[in-house]
Amino acid sequence: MITLTDTTETDVAIVGAGLVGLTAAIALAKQGRHVTLIDSHAKPAHTWLPTIQQWDARIYALTEETIAWLTSLGIWQYVDIARVEPIQSMTLREPSQSAPLILKSEDAYLPQMGCILESANLMHACYQMLEAIDIQLTVASPVSIIQHAYFAEIKLDTQENVHAKLIVAADGVQSWVRQTLQIGVTFKSFHQTAIVANFNVEHAHEGDAQQWFLPHETLALLPLPSQMVSMVWALSTERAQAMLGMSEDMFTQEVEAACHQALGQLTLCGETMSFSLNQQTAHSIIAERVVLVGDAAHQVHPMAGQGVNLGFRDVMALTQLTAKLSVLQDVGDFHFLRQYARARKLDVVKMTTLTSGLDALFSTSYPWLQHLTGWGMQQINRTVWLKKQLVQTATL
Ligand SMILES: Cc1cc2nc3c(=O)[nH]c(=O)nc-3n(C[C@H](O)[C@H](O)[C@H](O)COP(=O)(O)OP(=O)(O)OC[C@H]3O[C@@H](n4cnc5c(N)ncnc54)[C@H](O)[C@@H]3O)c2cc1C
Repeated sequence: MITLTDTTETDVAIVGAGLVGLTAAIALAKQGRHVTLIDSHAKPAHTWLPTIQQWDARIYALTEETIAWLTSLGIWQYVDIARVEPIQSMTLREPSQSAPLILKSEDAYLPQMGCILESANLMHACYQMLEAIDIQLTVASPVSIIQHAYFAEIKLDTQENVHAKLIVAADGVQSWVRQTLQIGVTFKSFHQTAIVANFNVEHAHEGDAQQWFLPHETLALLPLPSQMVSMVWALSTERAQAMLGMSEDMFTQEVEAACHQALGQLTLCGETMSFSLNQQTAHSIIAERVVLVGDAAHQVHPMAGQGVNLGFRDVMALTQLTAKLSVLQDVGDFHFLRQYARARKLDVVKMTTLTSGLDALFSTSYPWLQHLTGWGMQQINRTVWLKKQLVQTATL
C-alpha cells in the first residue's frame, strides 16, 4: 500500500510550543520567516480563561528585559495586567537570621524590578498573538529527523513531512530533538523538589519578593495582586514528600513557621504542585540545521527565577542574528548557527554557575561559611553602589 504524505516547506520548524517555542514562533514570523510550530499536545487545557477566578499555581518572575521584549513583539498587550504584580523590592535572608539584604527598585532608580505573573496569563497572551499573526499550531509528534545539506526533514506521526531550513528545538527538558540527535547533557540533581502554591496573606506584601536561604532549602514568597503571594519552596525531596502528605492546616503552619510569619496568617488558595529540581546543560546547543532553546538547552535551579527568562534570551539572541540576514539568506547555515552558540555561551554558564553556587553556599554545614555569608549580606546592605549593581543584575 502506498501512503500519501503531505510535505510542508518552511523556513523554520519549531518543535515545542511552551513559552519559549511560542515566542520564537512569533518573533521569527514577525521577521517575515515562514514558521511551522509543532507540539505533541493541543493548546494546554490550563491555558487561561478570563472567567476562571482561580489563580494558576505556576507563576513566573519576569525581568524588565523580558517585559520590554514581550512588549516589542506585541505579546504584552494581551496580558491581563490586573493579574500582574510589579516587584518593588527583594528581601533576602540567610540561615544565621542576621539583618536581611534588602534591594529596592529605587536603589537603581527603576520604577520596578520586574513582575510576577501566572504562566497561564502569559500563555494565553502568546496564543492571542499567534492568532493575530495567523500561525496555526500543528498538533503532532515528530518521529524522525533527517539532516540534508540544504534542509532538515521532520517526519510526523500524522504522516506529514516538514522540510525546514532550520529546526528550533524548544521541546523542554526531556527534548526529543536533543535526544534523537544524540546531543549529551551534563546533569546534576539537587535532590530537591519545589512545592508551589498560592496563599492569601494577612499583612500587605507591598510588592516585596521575599526569599529565605535555609540550609539546602530556599523558600520564596512572591507578591501577587489581591493580597496574595505565590510560594516556591525548594526543599529536600524527602521533606517535600512529607509536606505534600500533610493536611492543609499542617502544611500552612509549616510555611508560616519557615517564613517566621513574615506576612502574618496564611490561607492556602488553589492547588499545590511539585517539581523535582535538576540542573542540565546540553553539550552543544547547535547541530546541523538545528538550534536548541529554552529548557531543551539548559535547565537551572528556580531559586533565581531565571529559567524562562534565560530561554527568552536564547530567542532574543537567535532573532537578533536572523534579523541581520535577508529573508533569502540561509537561516540554517552552520556558520550562522555557530554565531548563535557563541552568543549564548557566557549567559548560560553565568546563570548555571550562579544558581548551583548559591545552592552549594547555603547548603553548607560549615558555621564559619554561614557567618561569612551573613557578614557579606550586611556589607552589601551598607554599600550603595553594590546594591545598585545587584538590583540591575537581578532585574535587567
Ligand atoms: C518550580 C519551578 C518554578 C519556576 N519558576 C520560574 C520563574 O519564576 N521564572 C522563570 O523564568 N522560570 C521559572 N522556572 C523555569 C521555567 O518553568 C522553565 O525554564 C520554562 O518553562 C521552560 O520553557 P520551555 O518553553 O523551554 O519548555 P516547556 O515549558 O517545558 O515546553 C516544552 C514544550 O514542548 C512540548 N514537547 C515536548 N516534547 C515534545 C515532542 N516530542 N514533540 C513535540 N512537542 C513536544 C511540550 O508539550 C511543551 O509544550 C521554574 C521552574 C520550576 C520547576
